[in-house]
Amino acid sequence: MLQNPDINLSVPNLSFGGRYGGDFADKTSATTTLPAMNMGEKSAIGEAIAATRLSLGQATDLAFKLMAELDQFLARWEIAGSIRRKEPTIGDIDVVLIPNNMSGLKAKVLSIDPTAHGGDVKIFFEYGGRKVNLFFTNDDAWGATLLEATGSSSYIIGLRMKVKKRGWKLNNTGLYDQSGNKIAGKTEEEIFDKIWEPDPNCSACGGVGGGGKENKCPLCRGKLAGKRYKTPENRN
Ligand SMILES: [Zn+2]
Repeated sequence: MLQNPDINLSVPNLSFGGRYGGDFADKTSATTTLPAMNMGEKSAIGEAIAATRLSLGQATDLAFKLMAELDQFLARWEIAGSIRRKEPTIGDIDVVLIPNNMSGLKAKVLSIDPTAHGGDVKIFFEYGGRKVNLFFTNDDAWGATLLEATGSSSYIIGLRMKVKKRGWKLNNTGLYDQSGNKIAGKTEEEIFDKIWEPDPNCSACGGVGGGGKENKCPLCRGKLAGKRYKTPENRN
């Protein structure tokens, strides 16, 4: 089931829903988890949803058209999700953004879709018949939010399991060490750099990382500097 491309439908819910909770998160889980749960069994609902997916090109065009409308209210934005991973077909449009005019942005979104809902963490609405998820962040958390909103969800779960073994925590605000200190989050690169940092006392690589397959130390699993960033299209 985790290999199914439609699993990305559950990313926003997985990543943000539980943590921010509330009435609005419940509505989200009702709309986002149902398809993913059913897809593994090739159910009728799964087939129906698959049929509504856009090609990567169509979805990219639609996403940029939307962002041209929203750009004036934003200090920074990037399209994430399955579009950023360059999946062949796309369900939702996911965008990470930092507004410079939140009230203007919300008014604009409501003018596009009066049923839009959400708050200061995320907003959901429809545009051109597609479900759009806007994820708000700030410069300090930019990389962490982008990483999580890009997915895939199985890839993010794998990263979290890896950092958990070290007593660390990864969420949409950053990477935190055993003491709860934030050690990365501004960029994806610095998060990957920390996650794949070799053990400085490793007897196999001498703290440098590398060797073996994928430049990964067979003992500490650390990677060579410059080899730690994983491009979005390779995160499935
Ligand atoms: Zn090593």
